[in-house]
Amino acid sequence: KKRNPGEVEFHQAVEEVLESIAPVLEKNPQYVEAGIVERLLEPERQIMFRVPWVDDKGVVQVNRGFRVQFNSAIGPYKGGLRFHPSVYLGIIKFLGFEQIFKNSLTTLPIGGGKGGSDFDPKGKSDAEVMRFCQSFMTELCKYIGADTDVPAGDIGVGGREIGFMYGQYRKIRNEFVGVLTGKGIGWGGSLARTEATGYGLIYFTREMLKANGKSFDGQRVVISGSGNVAIYACQKAQSYGAKVVVVSDSNGYVIDEDGIDVATVKEIKEVQRARISEYVKARPNATYVAGGSVWDVKCDIALPCSTQNDINEESAKKLVANGCYAVGEGANMPCTNEAVKYFLSKGILVGPAKAANAGGVATSALEMSQNSQRLEWTFEEVDAKLDSIMTSIFKACDESSKEFGMTGNYVAGANIAGFQKVAKAMLAQGII
Ligand code: NDP
Repeated sequence: KKRNPGEVEFHQAVEEVLESIAPVLEKNPQYVEAGIVERLLEPERQIMFRVPWVDDKGVVQVNRGFRVQFNSAIGPYKGGLRFHPSVYLGIIKFLGFEQIFKNSLTTLPIGGGKGGSDFDPKGKSDAEVMRFCQSFMTELCKYIGADTDVPAGDIGVGGREIGFMYGQYRKIRNEFVGVLTGKGIGWGGSLARTEATGYGLIYFTREMLKANGKSFDGQRVVISGSGNVAIYACQKAQSYGAKVVVVSDSNGYVIDEDGIDVATVKEIKEVQRARISEYVKARPNATYVAGGSVWDVKCDIALPCSTQNDINEESAKKLVANGCYAVGEGANMPCTNEAVKYFLSKGILVGPAKAANAGGVATSALEMSQNSQRLEWTFEEVDAKLDSIMTSIFKACDESSKEFGMTGNYVAGANIAGFQKVAKAMLAQGII
């Protein structure tokens, strides 16, 4: 904390991992001798840069860009770019740190990194977003590459932003390579990438429920967020017979007791880029609640898919009191450490983010493979690989939790399984 003052989200993410891996370090003194933890906590490289651009009124705007290249022991840095006004180094470092273990869990050869900007795409015209993305990539392109660092999307970065950034990279570098993932279909994108994080969350949660004698069928589900992850989690959960009754944005939430209509949400968020309050216009039986917490709504399964620290201890208590028995983390670090501890103390099933939302980055790695081979796989092929990756991630979390005497604690299981692969690689590669 002294070394990284003020980076509260980073401290939180580190604390959670260190608590879980303590028994691994005890069993493996060679990791301690080789300073694995000290080296893991220090990013290999972090880049901060000026992003100047001109708005539609002709006024010069200046944002700050980030790329934290955290750990490349098992593959090129890989992780998304977040555009949100709350972005600062502490958020990018927490996300980059989590990404190391998440990417390790996918079993694919990708290291951990993350980036972004404090730019807010909300309320900006397409032309403004384009000029910002071009300026951002003009600098970022010096540090990334298909075999070095391959960014993707995250909050505020979807297909439109990836398109503008890819165009600028291609123009400056004069090469058509898989340097970004989440590209459009027809110019290097992978089928099923858009759906992958949400679908993957549901595949993971399905396995977690199954291992505990339960399933999605007939269950009442509450989702926070209404972005990329929330939309496809909602769709896949419904396909397994769940009734999703809530989605939200940062202004409020909608309750639809007939079940959330995914087509309406997609139209509002992906086409109109409007607020979720619009939902009730298309579905008059639904109710919009301005402000408030989605976690006050009764549910069996909670899927936080918006942002970090969405569920604090108080919300966790409310969820449990209302009968919720499982939580699948779609967002990164959506539960505070206190909330997770409370859930585990009450025997609630928790699918931790670095395992449960790894489907996005796993499919991004499949996009990289397709780009390298200059091939395009079918939707069904990619989706089947995603399902099998998520199933094996659950298995790894389950087995690690059992190996270290914490059966059913998938939070610890994910941290331990993710850590071990990276630690082994770092040990083999010497003190670098
Ligand atoms: P989107 O930008 O598509 O959607 C984000 C959603 O969360 C929006 O509904 C947004 O509402 C809401 N939200 C964002 N910030 C806040 C906030 N501070 N308070 C309340 N609501 C907020 O992002 P994604 O769906 O891609 O990402 C959601 C989460 O999933 C993030 O934690 C991300 O890191 C994680 N994730 C995403 C992956 C991906 O492949 N996209 C992969 C792995 C993890 P509003 O519009 O009002 O801001």
